[in-house]
This record gives sequence, C-alpha cells and structure tokens, in this order.
Amino acid sequence: MNTESNPLENIEDWEDDLLRRYPESKDKKNEKDFRDYENSDRAAGVRAFYKLNHQYQCYDFVSEKEAKFLQFKQRKMSLWDAVDFLNTLVDDSDPDIELDQLQHLLQTSEAIRADGHPDWFVLTGFLHDMGKVLCLFGEPQWAVVGDTFPVGCSFSKKIVHSEYFDLNPDSSNPDFNTKYGIYSENCGLDQVKMSWGHDEYLYQILKDYLPQEALYMIRYHSFYAQHKEHAYDHLMNATDHKMFEWVKKFNPYDLYSKAPVPPDSKALRPYYEDLVSKYLPDTLNF
Ligand code: FE
Ligand code: FE
Repeated sequence: MNTESNPLENIEDWEDDLLRRYPESKDKKNEKDFRDYENSDRAAGVRAFYKLNHQYQCYDFVSEKEAKFLQFKQRKMSLWDAVDFLNTLVDDSDPDIELDQLQHLLQTSEAIRADGHPDWFVLTGFLHDMGKVLCLFGEPQWAVVGDTFPVGCSFSKKIVHSEYFDLNPDSSNPDFNTKYGIYSENCGLDQVKMSWGHDEYLYQILKDYLPQEALYMIRYHSFYAQHKEHAYDHLMNATDHKMFEWVKKFNPYDLYSKAPVPPDSKALRPYYEDLVSKYLPDTLNF
C-alpha cells in the first residue's frame, strides 16, 4: 500500500486515536491504548492522515465522490458477502490489532444487545462500519475514515487538527469560508454536505430500510465536532437535535466495546442472519 496516500499502518489507528482524544473516563487511562502513543509512528501516521484528509476534502471533492459512489454501481452483494469482503481488510502487520472488522461490528452490536436495546439498534451496531468497503474499491484511507465535518461553510477550530484546513482550497473561497457558507441558520443537516467517507456512503445505501434514529447513528457517527464538541449547532434543526441523542447513545458502544475475548462469530451468526433479513433485502447495491 502506498504510504504517502495511506499514512495509517492500519485504518484502526484512527479509532485508537479517538480513544486517546475521548478516553472512557478521565481517571481510567487505558494503558494499552496510550502506551507511547504521542511519540510513536502511529501518532505521526494519524497526523499525516488528517493532513491529507483536511487538505483534500473540499466541497468539489465530496461532490465528485457522491457522483461516483451514489450510483451504487460498484457491486451487488448480500450483506453477508459484504461482511466477508470487508473482513479482507485485516492488516496483520500490527501485533496490537487482534480484531478484524467483523469482530468490531459484533462487539459493538453485542454490547448494545446486552443493554436490552431494540433490535434495530443492535442491527445498527452490526452494520455501522460496512461503508469501509470503500477501502476495497481503491479509495484512500482519508476518503473512508476519520472524523467527518461539513463542507460548504467554514471549518470549525474544534475539528481535530484544524490547522491543516489552511491547505484546503475552500478555506480561501469566499463562497465557502464564512460561518454559514452556502447554508442558512438552522437549515438542518440533511441540507448540509459532509466530508466523504464510510458514514455517508452506508447511510445512502441503507436509507430506505432502517428507522430514522438508526440512520442518524450511521450517518453521523464520525461527526465528533458535533456529537462531542457541539461546533455546528447553528446548522442543526430541531429534528437533528432530537436525533443526535441517539448518535450520542451509540458512540460509547462504538468506542469502548472492545472486549479482550473476541465474540464467537459462528455462534452469533444465526441471530444476526434473522436480524438482517428482518430489515434488509437479500442483496444491496454498493
Ligand atoms: Fe465508523
Ligand atoms: Fe466503528
């Protein structure tokens, strides 16, 4: 893999960085997640990753990716074929990463199930990162993962590594570099174009099949500048505020459900097969 365009050794390094930024509790620092992180190659990789992400995720770039991928002409697959496909993303060069993609999805969904949430919430946990198949369609890491943010208006200083937005052409475009840019006050996030990645892509694939709460969780789960930092209240409407309660409810399951014992994917499969077939058609267009 070309390290210049893909500076993360493993795309999970982005999620490990989230754990560092948003620890589960302030006193309970997780030794494994923080060990030598600041000065490590992985930290440098994450910085290089955000530099590329913030430099290239401009309004026109997002429009191009939407035009390409929202025709859903990459592959027709059952959800289960997509799971197998996604699982080929495992990178075994890093001994710290024991979990494959399926295990992250199952840990998230099983933690949601253990708390007695409705079945569509469990399903959302199981599906939420399926959009990462974009990596397997040849997309660079910075166009698949990472914090997402609105394009078409000024970039908040609360976005991680916001200093790199100086490199983004939209920062010097007067149409885009004001507080509201092309949007209006409290216009609603449905009117707002977000940086391109696995969240928006999966939302667009599933938007006809899941309840609104689930769709918000999928579409905005990487929008940390809002669900953790509240940097874009001025673009949100009343529905967004109500639905972001679900995005916030979802986040700990995504970040903090990594258990030392991996879930038994074979044993769990029948339950998830029933759940998937309850909500989704036999094949999906990716
Ligand atoms: Fe994700
Ligand atoms: Fe995730």
